[in-house]
Order: sequence, then C-alpha cells, then structure tokens
Amino acid sequence: MKIQFKSEELIIFESSLYRTTTSLIIGEQYILLVDPNWLPIELDFIEETIQEVGKDKETYLLFTHSDYDHIIGYGQFKNYKTIASSNFVNNKNQASILQQIEKFDDEYYVSRSYDIEYPKIDMSFAGNNEKLQIGADSYCFYQAQGHNIDGLLTFNESKGILIVGDYLSNIEFPYIYDSLVRYKATLASLEQIINQYTIRILISGHGDFTTDKSEMLQRIQDSRKYIADLEGSILNQKEFDTTQLYTRYKFPIIMDAFHQGNIKLAKAELRVK
Ligand SMILES: [Zn+2]
Repeated sequence: MKIQFKSEELIIFESSLYRTTTSLIIGEQYILLVDPNWLPIELDFIEETIQEVGKDKETYLLFTHSDYDHIIGYGQFKNYKTIASSNFVNNKNQASILQQIEKFDDEYYVSRSYDIEYPKIDMSFAGNNEKLQIGADSYCFYQAQGHNIDGLLTFNESKGILIVGDYLSNIEFPYIYDSLVRYKATLASLEQIINQYTIRILISGHGDFTTDKSEMLQRIQDSRKYIADLEGSILNQKEFDTTQLYTRYKFPIIMDAFHQGNIKLAKAELRVK
C-alpha cells in the first residue's frame, strides 16, 4: 500500500482506489486511526503497521463522515474506541450506506474477514470547538456539513494536524450531497481554523496532504470558485465550462456524474427548474 507521508507521529496511507487516505496519528500512549479503507489487503497492511507502532497503546478510531468509502474498514478495527459527529450517530441513511458497501464488494468479488455494519460510536460531538484530550494531545472538533450531513473536522492542536474529510481535496472539486449554503459555511470555518492556528499539515480524504498554508487557503478559494461558477451558471442559465473543469480534474467520466449531481442539488436549493 502506498504511504504518502511518514513521521514519528503520523502516517498517511493512500488506497489505490480514489486515492482515499487513511491517517494514523501516533501518540506516546495511544494511536488514532482515521477512516481505514478500502481493500482487505490494504486494511491488513494498516493493521500490521499498527501492530508495529501501536504496541501496548490505547486504540482510537475516528470517522470524518459516513460516506461508505470512509466507514468500509470499520469491522477490522471494531474493538477500538470510536469517535464521530453526533450527526453521524443519528444518520437516517445507515441502511443505504451499508448497501453501497455490499454492492461494491459484490461487484468486485471482495470477501472481507468481518461483517459489514454501521459503526457504533463511543464519543460523539455535536458542537464547534469541542475539546477532547487523548493521551498528551489536545483535540478540537468542528462540524462540517455541505459535502454530506455528518462531517467532522478534527484538529490535533498539539501536533498541528488538521484532518478535514472530503473537503479541500487537490484532486476533486466540491462534491455536494447536502447543501451549498452549508458547504460554504464549512469553507468559512476551515478558513478561520487555518488562519487562527498553526496547521503543520492538512489531510484531505482524497489526494495529497499539504503543509503549505498558502496552498490550504488556495484550496478554499478553488472550492469557492467552483461553487460560485456552479451557482452563476444555474442562475444565469449559462453553460458551465466543463472543458476547463476536466482539464484541472483528471477523471472526467466519473467526475461528470458528480458534477451533474451538484447541478441537480444546486437547482433544487436555488429553486431553479
Ligand atoms: Zn470520500
């Protein structure tokens, strides 16, 4: 499995599928695993790595949001203490999320060593700037809606690690399953966090991490521009420039399906037929 980044206190694994990231924060007394995914061979590799770096440590498992690609590995790490947003716990679409996993595994003949189930969460967070101490590290959580309804931004203040789930990717434009208004609110809170704290590394759910503050802020601007162009094209009934979009983002067949989904959602939210 590809390792995108490795230090004493952080490993970022990258799946061969959708360049999905799994983060592993390594403390003195604990490890925190985030969104383990996708394939059995990849999950085994992650588990073996934890056996090396996490020996005799407390184990935590955090989900950035409930999209199926981010919870698919839950069963392999089920005995860990789990963390997610309260919206994640109360998500009403649990059955259809699990169905997506079953469909994926069926389509690609994937057998897993565990049953597919929706994560049971031990510690959930409903507010912004909510604190949690794990080992010697202080964590701070923020709600992140817009992409979907139950995102959680995780900031390890002690190590300067910000994990944002499916926002601020350098390889995807915004995929909006929940709401434009709430997506923009999440971008505003990301901007505030990045300006207020020293972020040593920002990790997105798909694509490359960045350690560069100007790139973090640029990614916010890129997301804002896409949303503004989307809204503009709908409100002014102008064609969206997809040629330019798929020059910047590399997978035009699947990405066009997401772009069409965004158009549908935006039309409904903007009340345009
Ligand atoms: Zn994702």
